Amino acid sequence: MCGIVGIVDAGGVSIQLYYAMYALQHRGQESAGISTYDGSTLYKSKGQGLVADVFSPATLASLKGMSGVGHVRYPTTGSNLPENIQPLNFQFKDHSFSLAHNGNLINTRELRSEFEQSGQIFTTTTDTEVIARILIDAISESGCVEDAVHLCMRRLHGSYSVVMMIDGIIYAFRDPLGIKPFCIGKIEQGYVVASESVAIDALNGKFIRDIKPGELVRIDNEGIRCTQIAVASSRAHCIFEYIYFARADSVIDGVLVYDVRSTIGGKLFDEDPIAADVVSPIPDSGTAYAIGYARKSNIPYVESLLKNRYIGRTFIMTSQKLREKAVRIKLNPIPAHLKDKSIVLVDDSIVRGTTSKRIIDMLREAGAREVHVRIGSPQIKAPCYLGVDMPTREELIASDKVEEQVKRSITASSLHHISLQALVEAIGIKQDQLCTGCLTGCYPLPIDGEQGNKPEIDYVIGTYQVNLESFKTES
Ligand code: AMP
Repeated sequence: MCGIVGIVDAGGVSIQLYYAMYALQHRGQESAGISTYDGSTLYKSKGQGLVADVFSPATLASLKGMSGVGHVRYPTTGSNLPENIQPLNFQFKDHSFSLAHNGNLINTRELRSEFEQSGQIFTTTTDTEVIARILIDAISESGCVEDAVHLCMRRLHGSYSVVMMIDGIIYAFRDPLGIKPFCIGKIEQGYVVASESVAIDALNGKFIRDIKPGELVRIDNEGIRCTQIAVASSRAHCIFEYIYFARADSVIDGVLVYDVRSTIGGKLFDEDPIAADVVSPIPDSGTAYAIGYARKSNIPYVESLLKNRYIGRTFIMTSQKLREKAVRIKLNPIPAHLKDKSIVLVDDSIVRGTTSKRIIDMLREAGAREVHVRIGSPQIKAPCYLGVDMPTREELIASDKVEEQVKRSITASSLHHISLQALVEAIGIKQDQLCTGCLTGCYPLPIDGEQGNKPEIDYVIGTYQVNLESFKTES
C-alpha cells in the first residue's frame, strides 16, 4: 500500500510531483520522498509524515530538474526506519539511479540471501532494495534496461508497480499479473506515470491508459516508448483497490471506482432488503456504497456520523489500543438524526471488527433503535501477501467466523456482506482476472502454506515496442 509517481516535464517537476503525491496521500501516510535529476545532479528529499509536512516550498525549489520520481509509503515489508523511505537512490558506474515501488514481493528472503551470500550488503530492510539490486546488477552487466527489467520480471514473485529514474530517464513497469494499479497521463510539457488516475487529474493532465501488466514504459524529453516484456495467461488485479484502497474518483483498469461502490450499494439492498428509516455511511469509506443503497431502496440517505477531516485513516495507528481510541476522535454521531431510528449503516469492509463494534455502540448510545450493517465486500477470510496490510488470520475477525457470529460480535441488529458474485459483477472484470486472495484464501501465485495458482508467463525474447503511434498523436 504505497503510492508512486514519475514525471518528465520540460517545465520542471518538483511541484508537480508534490501535487501528484498529495493526490495519492491515501495510499500511504507514514513517509514521503522525491528525487529529481537536472542533467547532472540527483536531488533528493524525504522524511517521515504526510506530504505537506515533509516538503516545504524551499525544499521543493531545491529539487531541480525536468524529471523525477516520488513515493508515499505505507509499510508492508521493512519496518518504520528512516533508511527505508523511498525513493531509494544509488550511484553506479557514473549513473544516477532512483527507484520507488508499490507492492509486495513474496520471494524477498530468497533473493536477498542470494545477494548476501555473494558478499553484497543491504542498507534497508525493504523488498524494494532487492528490486533495485537486481536491476542495477543487470544494467551494469548488459547496459540494456529492457533486458534488466526482463530479468527482474523473471526473478520477482509478488506484486510490483515500479518507477525508476536512470540519469533522468523515467522507466515504469508493472508486474505481469497487473496486481497493483499503474497508469500513464499526458501533462502540458511531458508525461506522468502514477499509481492512480487522480494524480493525473491533480496535474490537470489527460489520462492516456493503464500501464499493461508486464509492460515497461520509458519516458524522456523526446517522448514515450512502451515495450511489452512479459505476458501472463491471466491477470490478477487487486480486488481490494476497488473495495477500499483506491480513491473513489480514480479509474483503475478501465473502471471508475465510485461507480463500482455505488453499484454494490444497490446490490446490497437487492440481496438482503430491509425496511429502515435511514441509510447512513461510515464516512468516507462507506459513502459511495450508502448512496447506491439509498438510491435503490428509496430509504433516505442521512448522515448520522460526522468525520473529523483532520484525522488520517485509523488503521495507520500501530496498536490495537490506539486504533480503538482513534475511532472516537475520528467520528461523531448526530443524535438528532438517530433518535429512535432504525438505521442501515453501510461500510466497505470489516477487517478487525474494531471500527464497526465501536461505531455501533456509539450509534446506540446516541439513540439509534436498530443498526443494520451492510458491507460492500464479502467477509475477509485470509491475509494479503501482495501489498495490503492484513497480516494474520488471528487479526481478521471473519477468518474463523460465519456472518452470524460476526454480527453478534459487533452487536449489529443484522449484518449482510455483499456476495463475491455481485462484487465481481459490479467491477465488471471477470473473477479469474482479479486477485481475491483476502476473500477466498486462494491466491493468483503460489504462496507457502496457502492455496495458490501458478500463472503461465511468456517472456518475450528480446523486446518489441507497442503503441508508439497512438502516443505520438497525444504530444
Ligand atoms: P476494522 O474492522 O476495525 O479493522 O476497520 C475496518 C475499516 O477500516 C474498514 O471499513 C475500512 O474502512 C478500513 N480498512 C480497510 N482496510 C483496512 C486494513 N487493511 N486494516 C485496517 N482497516 C482497514
